[in-house]
Amino acid sequence: MVADPSPRDSKAFAAAEPVANDGRALILMGSHGAAARCCSRDKVRGCLRANLLVLLTVVAVVAGVALGLAVSGAGGAQALGRERLNAFAFPGELLLRLLKMIILPLVVCSLVGGAASLDPSALGRLGAWALLFFLVTTLLASALGVALALVLKPGAAFAAVNASVGAAGAAEQHPSKEVLDSFLDLVRNIFPSNLVSAAFRSYATQYETSQMNGTTVKVPIGHEVEGMNILGLVVFAIIFGVALRKLGPDGELLIRFFNSFNDATMVLVSWIMWYAPVGILFLVASKIVEMDDVGLLFASLGKYILCCLLGHAIHGLLVLPFIYFIFTRKNPYRFLWGIVTPLATAFGTSSSSATLPLMMKCVEENNGVAKHISRFILPIGATVNMDGAALFQCVAAVFIAQLNRQPLDFVKIITILVTATASSVGAAGIPAGGVLTLAIILEAVSLPVVDISLILAVDWLVDRSCTVLNVEGDALGAGLLQSYVDRTESRSQVPELVPVKSELPLSPTPAPTEEGNPLLIHYRGPIGDATTSEKESVM
Ligand code: ASP
Repeated sequence: MVADPSPRDSKAFAAAEPVANDGRALILMGSHGAAARCCSRDKVRGCLRANLLVLLTVVAVVAGVALGLAVSGAGGAQALGRERLNAFAFPGELLLRLLKMIILPLVVCSLVGGAASLDPSALGRLGAWALLFFLVTTLLASALGVALALVLKPGAAFAAVNASVGAAGAAEQHPSKEVLDSFLDLVRNIFPSNLVSAAFRSYATQYETSQMNGTTVKVPIGHEVEGMNILGLVVFAIIFGVALRKLGPDGELLIRFFNSFNDATMVLVSWIMWYAPVGILFLVASKIVEMDDVGLLFASLGKYILCCLLGHAIHGLLVLPFIYFIFTRKNPYRFLWGIVTPLATAFGTSSSSATLPLMMKCVEENNGVAKHISRFILPIGATVNMDGAALFQCVAAVFIAQLNRQPLDFVKIITILVTATASSVGAAGIPAGGVLTLAIILEAVSLPVVDISLILAVDWLVDRSCTVLNVEGDALGAGLLQSYVDRTESRSQVPELVPVKSELPLSPTPAPTEEGNPLLIHYRGPIGDATTSEKESVM
């Protein structure tokens, strides 16, 4: 078929090929124009295909808000009724369940494999850099939170709208937890007494009151409460990985087991990813439908919400990208574009842990972070690095001080900064994880813990931007470490990450897989015969 050449195409072609300016040339010209059009169409199609998931996820968030507002406008939760509301929320609940199902194998296997793959000095160096980055950025987030709350004074605005602060604050009673007990619980959870129960329970001190000599005393009682003790599992998996590496050849079979387990889990993640947009849409929509009176909430707590969202936006869009740029000299926003899907998932699920699987996949595939780095750093980050939580906890502490008319001197502000940074480490990567540890800060500066009920009232919204920032910090930390490793490796010419040797028989040879352990080298020849070795896995 001869395509109709456009005048511009024919002119260009005629100029280039004056001799062939005949019918044949017309045919060529036609196919040239069509090819160009085809090429650009292919490019657009390729670009769409490459970013399809990102686009679908963004569309899902917007559509979720629109659907939620539409259903709310048509009567909301009351008109729907409990049963229909449950059915409406079901696709979102399904996504959460799928992601949670993946967390345990992913965290344990990736950390055991990651720690076993790194040579101990590199492990220590990478771990130290990562923890330093996490610490500094969390402190910066805390400082930003305090500064914003002191400038915008959300507590004063709330007190003006709600004359009876006490009545609003006393809506829900929360048992206050001693600061010392909170930190002891943190350490207890780092060393779980039972690994199996750590997979679904954590340790928490609760209080019972008893009468002693006519006075009421608080008696601390240790309890196992529902909720995975992810901190304990993370610590165990790292130490276990290091121990496996120490075994040398005897440990390699188990390292391979954990790596294969991890690879299979990541394949599951890539399937779940395609369901994420549907789940996110219904998670967001159902949350909006569940809200009773969003207008009233914004009227009284609007400034507090604004403070938190503004702080999260400044830290996530300016501070963290700036730090990333300073150290890597790379475009941080391109990095962020690569992780839009997990960021949207964090927004939809309000859970760093649930976002972890998708985050690993995206930083590896879209941002070029090596598997041994992402699989080692991201689970740690998802557990201990919570910039968003520290920031909103600081805003909340200053807010509660303001509405109780308690002045904050320099010592109290420093106490808030330090305890917010520490308590964000203890916050679980689950919805409202940060609100639970907010009590530690309030106790530390003698503020009424009962006012947490106000923070809880709007946490469904603040927690979303908080979680987005939490996971963004982890991902940028992984990106920074990758750049650090690239630089040190190219400078020293000696790989920072020393591969693990495997002497297992390799027949039949497994094909190198996308998800293979990047540091596993199989020796085909006699043990120690480096000349016959062959690196099978791909970086
Ligand atoms: N929801 C947050 C997260 O999963 C924790 C928090 O509530 O601060 O990262």
